[in-house]
Amino acid sequence: MNDQCVFCKIINKQIPSNMVHEDEHVIVFADIAPQAPTHLLIVPKVHIPDLNELTEEHAFVLGHISMVAKELAARLGLAETGWRLVINCGADAGQTVFHLHVHLLGGRPLAGQMA
Ligand code: AMP
Ligand code: ZN
Repeated sequence: MNDQCVFCKIINKQIPSNMVHEDEHVIVFADIAPQAPTHLLIVPKVHIPDLNELTEEHAFVLGHISMVAKELAARLGLAETGWRLVINCGADAGQTVFHLHVHLLGGRPLAGQMA
């Protein structure tokens, strides 16, 4: 928990979110400024600022996130049409929230652009 972190506050239910999934390791909620018809954020409950700070002890969370993403994509009807996961890291990638998160995007053709 980082007191200044908006995603830690969402995880701790101190601020609201449109949550679609929660388990021991992650929370998933709708992005407040969606860039596609489906735009979810899959967020590990542990506060890791970005991929630069990832260590071996955290690495399993990324595998778990992939499994959660696959299950949500199927549940939301995206498995057939396609979908994308995006992780931004640092200024050049446009990262704005420094709590590691994975964007799940789908519901329109995404080819030719990254998000
Ligand atoms: P990134 O640019 O990868 O750091 O993405 C951060 C994302 O978090 C952006 O797409 C924002 O729209 C989203 N975001 C920021 N605050 C909130 C919030 N309170 N609830 C939902 N999404 C948020
Ligand atoms: Zn945090």
